[in-house]
Amino acid sequence: MRKDIIIIGGGASGIMCAIRAKERHPNKNVAILEKQPRIGRKLLSTGNGRCNLTNLSADKHNYHGSFSENISAVLKKYPPEKIIQKFNKIGLLTKMESDGRVYPISNQAASVLDVLRFRLEALGVEVICDCEVKNIVNNSNFFKIITDKGNYISEKIVVSTGTSASPRLGADSRGINILEKLGHKIEQLYPALCPVSVKGGLPASLKGVRAAAKVALFDKDKLIKEECGEVQFTDKSLSGICVFNLATYLRNTKSPIIRISLLSSMSEDKIISILNNQKNIMKDRLCEEFLIGIFQKKLGIALMKSAGISPLSRKVSTLKDDEINALAHLINNWDFNAEKMNDFKNAQVASGGVVGNEINPDTMESRLIKNLFICGEAVDIDGDCGGYNLQFAFSSGLVAGDNL
Ligand SMILES: Cc1cc2nc3c(=O)[nH]c(=O)nc-3n(C[C@H](O)[C@H](O)[C@H](O)COP(=O)(O)OP(=O)(O)OC[C@H]3O[C@@H](n4cnc5c(N)ncnc54)[C@H](O)[C@@H]3O)c2cc1C
Repeated sequence: MRKDIIIIGGGASGIMCAIRAKERHPNKNVAILEKQPRIGRKLLSTGNGRCNLTNLSADKHNYHGSFSENISAVLKKYPPEKIIQKFNKIGLLTKMESDGRVYPISNQAASVLDVLRFRLEALGVEVICDCEVKNIVNNSNFFKIITDKGNYISEKIVVSTGTSASPRLGADSRGINILEKLGHKIEQLYPALCPVSVKGGLPASLKGVRAAAKVALFDKDKLIKEECGEVQFTDKSLSGICVFNLATYLRNTKSPIIRISLLSSMSEDKIISILNNQKNIMKDRLCEEFLIGIFQKKLGIALMKSAGISPLSRKVSTLKDDEINALAHLINNWDFNAEKMNDFKNAQVASGGVVGNEINPDTMESRLIKNLFICGEAVDIDGDCGGYNLQFAFSSGLVAGDNL
């Protein structure tokens, strides 16, 4: 079966690429090969089902990996405003929320996928589902694409197969393996934007607790990255967007420690004076109730225990100065030994992929193989949490589409 342009992988980047390619070449035969029964499955789960489709503040600082050096070229051609315009033109209204995050006005990821599907249909892009690409043979002036539904021939192909992040949504790294077989160098995949497991787990009582905090990743004593936001405690891990953004840096950290600071705007002396004042007010209450006016009860109890204060059934008036000092220190220096990650199950994206210097950022064409284009997460780049990954998927897909 011969097609003019074949796009392998019908996710965010592949769909956008197919739309752009067919807009430019209405008479050419453009086809998407998708291994799952339908295209855009991951897109439907994005942004908790609301799809945070871009972020108005996107720039190179929001991206990591070897291609991040080249991201400016892609963002210059397709900045967030142009992605929004593109969606508006195909019938999707959008709105901006905090921190520049952009969502569909319907609050439904399904709206995003539907307008993309309608556009593919209107343009006449052929969408071939349940068709897994097993291998690509490069025959110098055409590619032979071997699938479980027969073989295809095309002069120009795009690989937009994503990574193995979130396998329950059908993700795997086989597309990237095919690129490796074709001669591309691959930076090893690693889970990013995911909860961080704590060695030995967390106290059971903390499960479900949420708290506003500053979180910081240290490699032993060296600060790697810090973020503010809401930390969520589960039975074994720390979660929340701020933690996700730290997880991205775990791959290069030898002895990772996550430090939580619950009153980060206050000095330790200030916290000591506050705690002493609370001690006066609460003197007749039990120690387990001591922090109730400052933190959620379960969080307060966990902090008291971690500071070594026991038993918690005694009166607050019995708290000694060294116990108050230890608690004050802990409130802004609550350290958890983090596990290095190897599980893609809860990862929103993976770092790693085809190394940056093997892809031309002006076209997304491979520098090794003419007429082979690579876009989306298969490229060694990953963005922070907040719409930056879809921004890259859409913009890199459009750049490839412009050059097919
Ligand atoms: C739960 C979750 C929430 C997220 N929320 C957000 C968010 O709100 N904002 C944001 O910016 N990012 C978010 N992301 C990240 C974002 O979804 C991805 O970065 C983006 O989808 C990557 O697009 P892609 O086209 O490269 O890959 P994908 O969207 O993963 O698409 C790849 C497609 O290729 C197909 N495929 C793979 N191999 C083959 C093969 N061999 N043959 C044929 N087809 C193949 C797959 O089935 C898939 O459909 C989220 C991710 C997850 C998992």
